[in-house]
Amino acid sequence: MPETYKKKNAVSDTEKDFILKGVLAVIKKVVSAQQYDIWFSCLKIFSISNNSIIFVAPNSFIREWLHNHYNDLFSSTVYKILNSSREVIFYTEDEISGPSSAIPLIKKNNKVLSFKDENYTVPINKYYSFENFVVGPCNRLAHAAAVAVSESPGNAYNPLFIYGAPGLGKTHLLHAINNVLMAKHKMKAMYLSCERFVNHYISTIRSNSWDSFRELYRNVDALLIDDIQLFENSQESREEFFHTFNTLYNAKKQIVITSDCPPQSIVSLEERLISRFKWGLLCGIDNTTIETRIAIAEKKALLWGINLSHEAASCLAENISSNIRELEGAIARLSSEEKITKNNITIDLIKKIVRELSGNRKHINIEDVIEAVSKRFNISVSQLQSKSKTRSLTLPRQIAMHISRKLTNMSLMEIGGYIGGRDHSTVIYADEKISKMSMKDKNLHLILQKLESELLK
Ligand code: ADP
Ligand code: MG
Repeated sequence: MPETYKKKNAVSDTEKDFILKGVLAVIKKVVSAQQYDIWFSCLKIFSISNNSIIFVAPNSFIREWLHNHYNDLFSSTVYKILNSSREVIFYTEDEISGPSSAIPLIKKNNKVLSFKDENYTVPINKYYSFENFVVGPCNRLAHAAAVAVSESPGNAYNPLFIYGAPGLGKTHLLHAINNVLMAKHKMKAMYLSCERFVNHYISTIRSNSWDSFRELYRNVDALLIDDIQLFENSQESREEFFHTFNTLYNAKKQIVITSDCPPQSIVSLEERLISRFKWGLLCGIDNTTIETRIAIAEKKALLWGINLSHEAASCLAENISSNIRELEGAIARLSSEEKITKNNITIDLIKKIVRELSGNRKHINIEDVIEAVSKRFNISVSQLQSKSKTRSLTLPRQIAMHISRKLTNMSLMEIGGYIGGRDHSTVIYADEKISKMSMKDKNLHLILQKLESELLK
């Protein structure tokens, strides 16, 4: 039977504070100052019951890391402080914050917890800061715009719309803006995912509590909304967002939006919302260059407290090219390997981890890519693989190269070899060209999306 968490049984905030201080003081003694600063300093306690203690991490990345690496440390520390054992549970701020009706229930180990939360802002998350963001040609504009907005909210660019493929730092920039607005300007900034807005909208339909819904979103100083492409299937909540947008915009409140594609490529987004988004600044984040990835790998290694030579960082950056989240996953793996084996990080170890990470992806053959693209463009496989420079063949060929680079484990040379006997620089050129084109061209964006999802099915 689900057990409902009753607020009256909750430990008071002062007691939680006291217990948190005790737990953190013990942990501080066993981890490095830098590790402490990044992973532990922004933790909060959400609740303490007879059976469990729920900690709140600022984001899912930190939550996962704490859960995977420090669960035992937390359990033993909690035991020391409370003199009895508790199950240690980690949630993210995003999972528990926000209007209570947005997330009425959280399930964990067959227990159902319901709660009311007073605070809807995300705490300062030191990890997603401007200092920790590596700037390169691919994200220079988005970074500069984000800094400008955080320095001069409501004035610099309003709205600011940042778009780019997954894992390229959009959420990171949004949090960084949020952090500055809250810390420096003491503003009531609200970061939320589009999904959360939609969920809250749906639960408000049920509860009919429109006044509090509107009051919540329309009284903020800044609204930072992540992954707006998820509005695609929710016409009514888009309508509501349109009114929220207008109210905030007219009151000169800062609005920042992210999406995995430009507004005009979001299928079913109304023209009036698209044109609103274009009132401010639209900026894209491109795929990272190898130099930026090396710099990111070095920065992340520093944050994770591991020793990574330049050669090792280059090896990682060469092998993980599309998604910084994966690069970060590899660094997390290296960090735990280093701690467990106490050995230095070698190139062989990096290659092993990269192999394992790519093994987790579905294995896609280049032949399948070639076949799917040929079919889509109504050409034969041999035409696609030919050297002919007719435009009706070069575009599908470049698309095949782009998708192969993204979904297969093949090297540039191998891809070039399969598709028309081209060299590696032709593949890089094709890959970058198609990435850039798909940012601007809605049709191409849709074609790529469809092809990729068919192949991954
Ligand atoms: P997105 O929201 O675009 O999918 P995220 O902001 O979640 O991507 O980024 C994924 C991970 O990669 C995060 O941990 C983030 O810190 C990291 N990351 C992405 N770009 C950069 C960058 N330029 N510098 C440092 N870290 C980055
Ligand atoms: Mg994101």
